[in-house]
Amino acid sequence: MRQPTKSPVQSEQVTCDHERMNEAATPRLTIIGGGPSGLMAAEVACAAGVRVDLYDAMGSVGRKFLLAGKGGLNLTHGEPFAQFVGRYAERRGAVESWLQEFDGDALRAWARGLGVETFVGSSGRVFPSDLKAAPLLRRWVRRLHASGVTFHMHHRWLGWADGGALRFAVPDGERSVTTDAVVLALGGASWPQLGSDGAWVAPLTDAGIDIAPLQPANCGFELAWSEHLRTRFAGAPLKPVVAHWVDRHGIAQHRQGECVLSEYGIEGSLVYAIGAELREQIATRGEAMLYFDLAPGYTQTALAERLSAPRGKHSLGDWLRRRAGLDPAKCALVFELTGKPTLADPVALAAQIKSLPLRLRAPRPVAEAISTAGGVRLEALDETLMARKRPGVFIAGEMLDWEAPTGGYLLTACFASGMRAGRGAARWLRR
Ligand SMILES: Cc1cc2nc3c(=O)[nH]c(=O)nc-3n(C[C@H](O)[C@H](O)[C@H](O)COP(=O)(O)OP(=O)(O)OC[C@H]3O[C@@H](n4cnc5c(N)ncnc54)[C@H](O)[C@@H]3O)c2cc1C
Repeated sequence: MRQPTKSPVQSEQVTCDHERMNEAATPRLTIIGGGPSGLMAAEVACAAGVRVDLYDAMGSVGRKFLLAGKGGLNLTHGEPFAQFVGRYAERRGAVESWLQEFDGDALRAWARGLGVETFVGSSGRVFPSDLKAAPLLRRWVRRLHASGVTFHMHHRWLGWADGGALRFAVPDGERSVTTDAVVLALGGASWPQLGSDGAWVAPLTDAGIDIAPLQPANCGFELAWSEHLRTRFAGAPLKPVVAHWVDRHGIAQHRQGECVLSEYGIEGSLVYAIGAELREQIATRGEAMLYFDLAPGYTQTALAERLSAPRGKHSLGDWLRRRAGLDPAKCALVFELTGKPTLADPVALAAQIKSLPLRLRAPRPVAEAISTAGGVRLEALDETLMARKRPGVFIAGEMLDWEAPTGGYLLTACFASGMRAGRGAARWLRR
């Protein structure tokens, strides 16, 4: 990683109390959305001397961040910068420029500034040492309050009124708010019960802002399982497996990892990592083919030899366990997808175990996904993340059209884009 070890937020903290500011002369920034990107925008804008009001539809901020904490809160990743930015694929260029201001090391330093130490796990993923999101969020919100950020909960943004005011649905009706600039940090469309439902697409489209359709990312995929597999093996892990596929450019690819059999198909980190490719293939061809090597420890020839030995009284399932090292879930998958003639032929069976075809029919709905692909196209924004067609409107976080696999890349880009938008808005207000 590069070297920004002092948190850039921490260093600006002192100037941030607008009790001391001249209220009338201080420009007002409205931030809508209290997830990691909106809170970061609030922090840097406040530090830059702007009066910040933060609105959120829910009764409290950071609900999805708290949910991420249930999985240990993978804040970022410890891999080298060049590798890290490669995770954003086609959007690498833009995200890299945000991360040059706030990368994984800076994020760790920022967390330390809140009294939260982090560690790099064996996979390179970075977590808070207590693996929890709540203490970090609590301290952060407390610091924002102390800095002068004003929070307004139960305000669901509806769009703009004719005169340009922001319209909010509030518990007793509707309220409009005028502001000098706004940062929209409304999240994607996954887990809408936590506040982000993608309803912002309509008002932003009406405002002429170009939006790529919202799609599920880091999600499971559907396959037609038999009743037997669904009821007996849903939830069973498959590990390790090597997935093989041919990408959109006709190039053979493979990746080793772990996934989980689910009632509807498959899910888990291996599938999430290649999900963008699978989703695109399904969109263009109506299906995507994955080939699982369930016995990566053996070559196909070695496996054929092992399975060809006299089986004696052993059942085929028992034989696959002993001779191919397959656990019950892998065996069930082989039986599910293999015809009788192949099961009876050790050489053909070895080939099948090394390349078990899975026909994926659809990604799961975005509401169930970990994150959302699509969103406000980066071409619709300038480098400060201000909408070209709507001066004074800045956009950050998962609302933007980028995607990345799990591994801490999502949160890191949300924090970094929140910082870019918050700083951009503050500069624009003081221009
Ligand atoms: C189960 C799960 C686990 C995850 N784990 C990780 C992980 O370990 N590491 C990682 O990097 N990422 C993880 N993520 C992804 C990460 O949490 C998100 O990418 C991140 O929270 C997005 O930040 P955001 O600020 O853009 O949006 P959000 O966190 O979604 O925040 C948006 C805010 O806007 C508010 N809002 C939405 N619409 C309106 C409206 N109309 N009016 C007012 N307010 C509104 C919402 O209430 C919400 O508070 C996980 C996601 C899920 C679902």
